[in-house]
Amino acid sequence: MADADSVTDMHDKTEKLRMVLPGDLIGISEEYTAGEWAFDENGNIYSTVVGTVVENQKKRVIGVKPLGNTPPVVKKGDVVYGMVSGIRSSVVLLDLAFIKGHEDREIAGDIQAAIHVSNVKKSYVSELKHEFGYNDIVKGRIIDPVTLRVDTSDPKHGVIKAFCSRCKIAMRRKNKVLECPNCERSETRKISTEYGMGLV
Ligand SMILES: [Zn+2]
Repeated sequence: MADADSVTDMHDKTEKLRMVLPGDLIGISEEYTAGEWAFDENGNIYSTVVGTVVENQKKRVIGVKPLGNTPPVVKKGDVVYGMVSGIRSSVVLLDLAFIKGHEDREIAGDIQAAIHVSNVKKSYVSELKHEFGYNDIVKGRIIDPVTLRVDTSDPKHGVIKAFCSRCKIAMRRKNKVLECPNCERSETRKISTEYGMGLV
């Protein structure tokens, strides 16, 4: 599609990469039309994927370019981002998205890592479902690159973005829990000190 190409070309020449997560606000409909990998809701334009923001100034279209396909090799100590795809009794499964410092390169294929209940946080964990929710975005450190074990016990690691299990919209941090701005439901997580700050 010619339009998508021209959006990308323009972006690559002029803009610094702006990384976004699914559900991140990328623009408002007074200024832009939602382009690829974006949707408009109540005048706000949100990303639907992990990627970089692209905008066509002339046509006033803003969208997201999903991450590419060059596979970086995961090493011990790498800080990774992933999305929770499974919660079992002793492990949480993460679909790895990318490695910190290599945000422009997606991890190829469906690479699934695991956080064992003993690697969640320094204090005791009784139930993993109290620490993670489906589709949460998690930041953690690779402690075993062969079995792809991830540790989130560092205060900066853990859930950096979570969605209300009822409304599916992003929750806000309120003291030690997360609260849905829509239904006011509160949920617990192993919350990163970087919660809500995006990719830092
Ligand atoms: Zn809600």
